[in-house]
Formats: sequence, C-alpha cells, structure tokens
Amino acid sequence: MEQLLQYIWKHKFFSQENLTTTDGRKVHVLETGVQNTNAGPDFLNARIEINGVLWAGNIEIHEMASAWYSHHHDKDKAYNNVILHVVGKANMDVATEEGNRIPQLVLSMPEHIVENYQTLLVEDRYPPCHRVVPHIPTLIVNNWIRALETERLNQKATHIAQNATRLNNDWEKTYFVALARSFGFGINGDTFEDWAETIPLNIAAHHQDDLFQIEALFLGQAGLLDDENTHEISLPEWTEHSVADLKKEYNYLRYKFSLTPIKPHLWKYLRLRPQNFPHLRILQLANLYVAEKTTLSRLIGCKTIAEMRNLLRPSPDETMHLSDESVNLLLINTALPMIFAYGKHKGKDTLCEKALDMLLLLKSEDNHIVRMWEEVGLKAHNAFESQALIQLKKEYCDKRRCLHCRIGYEYLKAKYIERTK
Ligand code: SF4
Repeated sequence: MEQLLQYIWKHKFFSQENLTTTDGRKVHVLETGVQNTNAGPDFLNARIEINGVLWAGNIEIHEMASAWYSHHHDKDKAYNNVILHVVGKANMDVATEEGNRIPQLVLSMPEHIVENYQTLLVEDRYPPCHRVVPHIPTLIVNNWIRALETERLNQKATHIAQNATRLNNDWEKTYFVALARSFGFGINGDTFEDWAETIPLNIAAHHQDDLFQIEALFLGQAGLLDDENTHEISLPEWTEHSVADLKKEYNYLRYKFSLTPIKPHLWKYLRLRPQNFPHLRILQLANLYVAEKTTLSRLIGCKTIAEMRNLLRPSPDETMHLSDESVNLLLINTALPMIFAYGKHKGKDTLCEKALDMLLLLKSEDNHIVRMWEEVGLKAHNAFESQALIQLKKEYCDKRRCLHCRIGYEYLKAKYIERTK
C-alpha cells in the first residue's frame, strides 16, 4: 500500500481542500517533486506551502509514520532536507538526524482508487485490466505502444552492446553470433551462440568462396563431425558433399588452425521439427556466409524490407525450409534490433529510425501473447505493435507493475470501469 500512497502523491490524486499537517497547519502542494528511484527520500525538489510559507525540499512517504525510525531515517543525513512526511497513519511524531521535527500529513487514499488497485491485484482473468482496455482512447494507447516498443528496442540494444563489448567491440562478429543464435529458434539458441563464438571469422574469410570448406568448418566446430557425436547426421539432397569428405576436410582445418569444437551433446533434438535440426540450420548459415550475406555492413546497406528478406534467405531453393514466418522472426528479433543497437553505438539516429520504421512495415507475430491482447481488444497491426505488446506483458503485467503502466493509470482513475461494471 505504500507504493499506492506514493502513486497517489505523484499523480496528485487527492483534494487540496482541508489538507493539513497533524498539528493543524494548512498545506498547499505546489509541486509533488520528482520521484527518486535511488537511495534517499521518495520525492526530490518538491514545493509546498505550510500556513502560507513556501518550503522547497524532499518528501518521504510511509504507510505508518513509525517506519521513519524502523528505516533509520532519524540517523541518516540524506533525510535532513525532508520538508514533509506523508503518511497513511501518523502513529508517532518524527524528527531528522539534526533533531528537527518534520511536519506530517496524513494522506487519505480515494476509495475508488484503492478498490481498483485491489481488483487489479486479485483479478483472475488475464490481463487483470481487461475490462478497461477496449475503452481507453486510441491516442493514449498509441503513445503507450510507442513508448513500450522504444523501451524494448533499447533493452535489446543494451544486450547487444554488452555482447559487442565481450567480443572486443567486433560488431561483425557480434552480428554473426546474434544471427546464429536466432537460427536456434529458441531451443538451441544458447548452443548456436556458443558455436558461433568458436568460429574464427578471420580464418573463415580466407575460405569464403569455398562452400565445401565452410560447411566442414561450421559443422566441425559444432562437434557434429566428431566421432563422439551420437546423433548421426544425414545431409540433405541439396548439399553436394558427403559426411566422410566433410569430416576429412574438417580434421585438416582443425589441425592446421588448432581449433576446438563445442561438445555435440549440447545440441537438443527433442520435440524439434526435422527442418530445425542443428546441422540443417548450420548448413543454411554456411550457405549465407559463402554468399556474403552474414555481414553487418550488408545488412545496414539494405534499403528495403524486401532486400533484407533476400539477404536472410539462404537460397531460393525451397528445400532450405526457411519459411516467410521464420524470416519475419529473424528480421524482428535479430536484424532490426542489431541495426538499432549499431545506430545507438555510432550515434546515428537515422539507423535507429530506420529500424523503428521497418518494424511498422512488418507483419505482426502470431503467438499466444499477441492473441491474448487481441482477445481483450488490443490488436497488433504490425511488428512494431506486437513487439510493444510483448514488452507490456513481460515487463509490466507479469511483474505486476500496473502502477508504472499507462493502462494501469487509466484503470486506477476508474473512468472506464464504472461504465463496464
Ligand atoms: S501492467 Fe498495465 S496492461 Fe498489464 S495488467 Fe497492469 S494495468 Fe493491465
């Protein structure tokens, strides 16, 4: 409830009439201050009048006034500039470390807000706010969607930048590793990432025009040409090479460049569709690599979605089994976040905008999260919106962060619930 008290203070969900301190002085709130998410008082730089005298400083909020002492604020210099202690219950007076008594205000929470908040916490149906969703004005939803998608891309960009740092700021390698990860399509993602990191791209570059050598290098580094590989691989018809020849070639490369493959048992096959078997995906990556389609510079050079799609397709050959939907997912989850991250890294806003604009042109994903939102009235019209809705569920609904959500704000104000009850 303390969080709700802070929320009510932050959004000024209280009447200024008859607002008084516990010792009867009239309070007028000019500015509630900036919420502080770090250590120290809850709100900084607030401005209030007490009996007509202007005070500027910080605000601390507790459900019970005694928390001031249990949190040891009376011994902490950081709280000496608190000008008002806002509480749910004033069960005692409080003073600063300097011994100054702090004015206290008992903030009563509007009943409908408390009620709505409790409903959000106990509602069985998911998402808990489903009743208001269809009634929220489009402008508010659109602004929230935009903020969510920017937040999502920024999160991904941070993750990519961390990987780039780990890979000695080699952005080409970073892209190759990210692309490989996405070829794991979930279940083998981590192993694809481990595998890609073992590929010596500088060595591979010398053999880039030789598909046979690249297939041998890629499959070999995956441990799939090892004698200890218990999952016998059978190569598809569209490869012209035999396992025995690839094995021989890999052993030569392995010895020449002192390579160490990953352990073959890391690959998972359970419940995997045959077209997703690791060796097939690795052969597709080899095909892309030889066609020079795995470089970040080429990705960034693409001007249209069609060009990007073409870049991510291993071959026009149908037997490659990379469906339109899979390519869409590669664009949404790997290619565009990479362009956004690189744009941020280089300070090139045009690249960030390009990534955002291209998401608007891509079809929405069709997964259980997107369908759940559609059922309650939020339809994703493109990948930009579906990604925003995924962010909303994962970072807000699942974490019960309704007090940080713009739909939650509308819900708590209760404008719409009353209509739909
Ligand atoms: S976080 Fe927002 S969208 Fe999710 S349940 Fe709470 S109010 Fe609804």
